Amino acid sequence: MKTNIITLDYEMFLGNPGDVYSTLILPTNKLSEIFDKYNIKPTLFVDVAYLLKLKELSINNNKALDDYNLIVNQLKNLADKEYDLQLHIHPQWFFSDYIDNMWSMDYDHYSLGDLDEKHIDFIFKHGIKLLNNISKKPVIAFRAGGYTLQSCTNYHLFFKKYGIKIDSSVISNTISNTQYQKYNYHNTPSYCFYKFDNDCNTEDIEGDHFEFPLKALKMNPILYSFLRYFKYRYSYKKYANGKSIEIVNSNFKKIKQLLIQLLKKKSIMPSIDGVSINFIKRIFDKSQSKVFLIIGHPKNTSPLSLEQLDLFLSYAIQKETKFESLTNYYKYELKNN
Ligand SMILES: [Zn+2]
Repeated sequence: MKTNIITLDYEMFLGNPGDVYSTLILPTNKLSEIFDKYNIKPTLFVDVAYLLKLKELSINNNKALDDYNLIVNQLKNLADKEYDLQLHIHPQWFFSDYIDNMWSMDYDHYSLGDLDEKHIDFIFKHGIKLLNNISKKPVIAFRAGGYTLQSCTNYHLFFKKYGIKIDSSVISNTISNTQYQKYNYHNTPSYCFYKFDNDCNTEDIEGDHFEFPLKALKMNPILYSFLRYFKYRYSYKKYANGKSIEIVNSNFKKIKQLLIQLLKKKSIMPSIDGVSINFIKRIFDKSQSKVFLIIGHPKNTSPLSLEQLDLFLSYAIQKETKFESLTNYYKYELKNN
């Protein structure tokens, strides 16, 4: 039987963060109503860098304290419903300023590897402790912010030290080389999960950790463009009011990217975000894997994407599949391997 695992990156926007209620609380509650309807327990990758920063600020700032409490209460409620809380890190927050209740974002520390090892150790240690206090359950899984795990050369040592058994930072067979996001997941093993030691993109059957990569579907660029800009052209207005980090490209690079987009096969992730949700049934139907890993972000949720999510889940649930959290999949299927 195929197992579907839904992972949600629980985080604010990294350009203009937006407010906590409309970026995290409201869309997560809306998503949760639908998951509860189908008795699905997702895995939340919680950006602990943001939470730790908010906690630090909340000592002297009431707005930060209110936001922190809103988030912790929501996460506690979700953990009580057996949602799985796991580790996600966007280092930017530690270097960003909060002045007159407004964020002034740092853009020099986007990737995990932009931090020194002492700092990474601090976030793993205190981030895990924070999640443990909220959920009363062990933290065993990690996803690097922006998928940039490779930027940190010794990540496997942190995984060993802090009991991280699963990583989910890889997007199979994709490469990114933008101003902020740099990774090279070329020639990813084709399995839906595999063991690794010090390289998350290479199988090592003696390794201590499992990689659960996001498996992107390669699609004809013309078909993709037709569907995206004609069939699914409706406005997916989000609940959130923030903005993603902006990548500034030269005109030459913009034209080059447009040409590549029109000629090269398009990689589409199994995602429930905004307009991407329209492609998920197609990816689900084509997937032969025994585990189908899905990604989403509350901040990218819209009323229209929720409607589509509801339709997809009612379809998937009839197809001899089950939904499981990452922790439970590890506990029941992998722990003794
Ligand atoms: Zn993230």
